[in-house]
Amino acid sequence: RAKHSGRGCLRFFDPSIDHEVDDRPQLEQELRNALVKDELTLLYQPIFDADGLVVCFEALMRWTHPILGEIPPSRFIPIAEKRKFIVPMGEWAIETACATAASWASGCRVAVNLSPVQIFQPDLAHKVETILRRTGLAADRLELEITEGVLLQDAETALTVLGKLNALGVRIVLDDFGTGYSSLSYLHRFRFQKLKIDRLFVGRLSEDQSARSIVKAILSMSQELGIEVTAEGVETTQQASMLRAQGCNEFQGFLLGHPSTAETARELAGQLSTHDMVEQLRTVSRE
Ligand code: C2E
Ligand code: MG
Ligand code: MG
Ligand code: MG
Repeated sequence: RAKHSGRGCLRFFDPSIDHEVDDRPQLEQELRNALVKDELTLLYQPIFDADGLVVCFEALMRWTHPILGEIPPSRFIPIAEKRKFIVPMGEWAIETACATAASWASGCRVAVNLSPVQIFQPDLAHKVETILRRTGLAADRLELEITEGVLLQDAETALTVLGKLNALGVRIVLDDFGTGYSSLSYLHRFRFQKLKIDRLFVGRLSEDQSARSIVKAILSMSQELGIEVTAEGVETTQQASMLRAQGCNEFQGFLLGHPSTAETARELAGQLSTHDMVEQLRTVSRE
């Protein structure tokens, strides 16, 4: 998978990753305590609708290690999953994101990534229900993002859990769409509210005809199925313009907004129309 080769490439350029092998046992031990030591934070990346309004924020986890500094999720999430630390960490993320979103003046949604390990915990839906009650966030303002991998492991169990979450009113989103293996059969078996086109395709829109065709097909299929679509990794106005012309509903990427602190997100959620980044999408013309 492209993601894996991408990660491999990073090794040559990022000196901090040289420590990876030596540090791993220690890092695991440190990650075990990261939550209680208050070293985890969530950043919030804005997601815009086709009119340039912020409609959602994706919560993205960061680990600030006392010595190594900020460690990216691509490095610590796999360790957390292997050791099952992801269960309390993920629960903390849902609770924190819901509490944060409940404090926003506007009705923006918040999206939280779910690890497959969390989905296979039998009490996930109950935990989410409790968190919604405790934070007072309306269920339809929470989106839970899953990747196809979870459906490959044990589709029956996963689909049952997703059904329970859906019954609470929570929106279920299929993340990184197009990079997995059997996307189409799952679209047929479960009604996702939204799918996110992987940034691999978005990044190649301008130069690669096949990426253009795939994106076009995803968008027209989603429209017919009544599923919303978010494009990930929108970095240029040309990409935004192409996606918008083909009916993409939502846009996320560095062109429009980077992941930022909860304080910045709150300001952005409150002052939609005056923000520069909003103007960027609004001025993209419909073809
Ligand atoms: P993801 O869910 O696909 O999240 C989107 C990733 O793309 C984020 O990386 C975001 O910073 C990055 N991104 C957004 N726009 C752009 C763009 O325009 N260009 C580029 N190059 N990148 C962009 P991040 O924060 O490093 O997270 C990586 C992955 O780690 C996430 O991918 C998700 O799978 C996982 N992750 C992050 N937070 C959590 C969490 O709380 N729980 C779990 N289970 N996984 C998480
Ligand atoms: Mg995601
Ligand atoms: Mg994604
Ligand atoms: Mg992705």
